[in-house]
Amino acid sequence: MKALQTDLAAILLEAESMESENDAFRSFLNQQPATLLDQKVQAINETIATKIDCTECGNCCKSLLINVTSSEAEKLADQLQLNLQEVKKLYLDESEGGQLLMNKIPCHFLIDKKCSIYAHRFNSCRDFPHLEQAGFNKRLFSLFMHYGTCPIIFNVMENLKIQTGFKQ
Ligand code: SF4
Ligand code: SF4
Repeated sequence: MKALQTDLAAILLEAESMESENDAFRSFLNQQPATLLDQKVQAINETIATKIDCTECGNCCKSLLINVTSSEAEKLADQLQLNLQEVKKLYLDESEGGQLLMNKIPCHFLIDKKCSIYAHRFNSCRDFPHLEQAGFNKRLFSLFMHYGTCPIIFNVMENLKIQTGFKQ
C-alpha cells in the first residue's frame, strides 16, 4: 500500500499536476472489467477509509448538494427541537419531483471542518464517496471531480493505479 497522503493542500497541488495522468487513467479504467475493478476498489477502500478522519476534512460538505429523506428531516427536527415546517423553511428545498435537498452549499451544519450533527448526518453524507458500492467505473466523472479534495478518493485512486498495473 502506498504511504497515505492526508495533507489537503498537498493533495490539491498533486491533483493539479496529475491532470493528464488522470485523464489517461480514466480511459484505462473504462477498459477494465467492471466486477474485478469493483472488487479491487472495495478492498483498497476498506483499508484507506478507516485511516482517514473525515472530521479533519469536511471538503465534501462544501461541495455536495445533499439529499434528505422525509424521515431524516423529521429526525433533524427532533434533534434541533423544531417542528418539521420550521426545518423545511430554514434548511431545505424541495425539487419538482418532491425530493428534499439541503438549501445551502456549504452545508448549514458544517462548522470549521466538522459536522455539527455528525452522529445524525444524512445517508447521502455517510455514503460519500460511494467506493464500497458496485459500479465504480460508471461514476468516474464524479469521482475524478472530487479527486483533489477528498483524501479517500485520492488515496484509493493512487493505490488503484498500482494495483491495476497502470503505474509501477
Ligand atoms: S450534514 Fe454534516 S456531514 Fe452532511 S454535508 Fe452537512 S456538515 Fe457535512
Ligand atoms: S471529502 Fe472525503 S475525506 Fe473529506 S470529509 Fe468528505 S468523505 Fe471524508
